[in-house]
Amino acid sequence: MMETRIQVRFGELSTKGRNKKRFIQKLAQNIRGAMPEYDQIKVKYDHDFIFIDLNGADEVGVREKLKDVFGIQSFSPIYIIERDLELAKSVIIDLVKEMEPSGKTFKIATRRADHSYEHDTNWLNAELGAVVLDAIPDIAVEVKKPDIRVRVDVKKEHFFISTKTYQGAGGLPVGTSGRGVVMLSGGIDSPVAAYLALKRGVEIEAVHFHSPPYTSPQALQKAKDLTAKVTRFGGSIQFIEVPFTEIQEAIKEHVPEGYLMTVTRRMMLRLTDAIREKRNALAIFNGESLGQVASQTMESMIAINDVTNTPIIRPVATMDKQEIIEISQQIDTFDLSIQPFEDCCTIFAPTAPKTKPRLEKARYYESRLDVEGLIDRAMANLVITHIKPDYTTDVQEELDFSDLL
Ligand code: ATP
Ligand code: MG
Repeated sequence: MMETRIQVRFGELSTKGRNKKRFIQKLAQNIRGAMPEYDQIKVKYDHDFIFIDLNGADEVGVREKLKDVFGIQSFSPIYIIERDLELAKSVIIDLVKEMEPSGKTFKIATRRADHSYEHDTNWLNAELGAVVLDAIPDIAVEVKKPDIRVRVDVKKEHFFISTKTYQGAGGLPVGTSGRGVVMLSGGIDSPVAAYLALKRGVEIEAVHFHSPPYTSPQALQKAKDLTAKVTRFGGSIQFIEVPFTEIQEAIKEHVPEGYLMTVTRRMMLRLTDAIREKRNALAIFNGESLGQVASQTMESMIAINDVTNTPIIRPVATMDKQEIIEISQQIDTFDLSIQPFEDCCTIFAPTAPKTKPRLEKARYYESRLDVEGLIDRAMANLVITHIKPDYTTDVQEELDFSDLL
């Protein structure tokens, strides 16, 4: 009988000092939560590693899920067999053969946890190495930098054998950096910002502004679908819809063309901050990239950021569009993001927004609005949807759509 256990290394966590235990516990919990379909697995941990006993769960499937869990540096499957030398030899040969060993170098690295075992590590390395050399043509021993490292641990009743190490996603376990709200539009950039927030351990909630009937139900659905895509990296996300129609109409009526965009963004930020406070979150994330469009100049940031002291983190601020696109392709949001549904900003977008708005003017034009009343009414009508990793548009929602078309 062969059992499989996956050994997980956590990298950056090792430096977390007193918080280390909390981090490890959170990571173990996130691993468990990332693969609900494999309910037979057991996740355990000690000070140095997390171990996943597969108990018959599909190893390839579990490895695929593990690749998306933040806080993991690398992981290795370990095959656990009875302490039978002949069995160990055949298992090692099979494992090395799987690694397309022709023309490669290898090393056997034995460790004895049980020192009472009859053979010492030198003897075992030589004996097991000879078997590999015999069984596999065109392979050579290399002690310093082997292509294939076969680790054999001698335990009281078992051999633990391992040959492969897989790269993890890096980052920090989601939930260990506190909670943030992400301003999530239907575009390319903000889902990438959401992903990068999760990568640094931030538990996120998504805030989305929509302005029916100027924006379509499909645009709203697209934002929800994008949120669902991102749950792959951190589990369920609360999706908070903000009704923005009244505010956009008021702005359109009272604010001159050149400042529409700046005032719109100020109102969005105020609302996001009010939601952040209500949801006990610490920071706001958005998908702004410096210089990409008029609202994303530093002058604009000054004019918009004026409404709050809350930290605003812009994970893609310094990236080129192409770099952002590459990440969106990796995380599988790109194809959805480029679907052509107008969001609330494009509909009311002025033809020539100011790229260098002045703070005083933005404040002045905004004072023509009943800011407090507008905010209160929007806040009273938030709609929250709990989006789980298995989220799909349900039939009811689809029916509602066709009614509106
Ligand atoms: P994205 O691809 O994320 O839509 P963008 O390049 O289209 O970004 P803008 O439309 O200027 O940029 O928006 C800048 C940021 O403002 C977005 O990344 C997002 O964080 C936020 N934002 C814009 N529109 C909305 C919306 N309808 N709901 C929530 N957040 C929004
Ligand atoms: Mg956009």
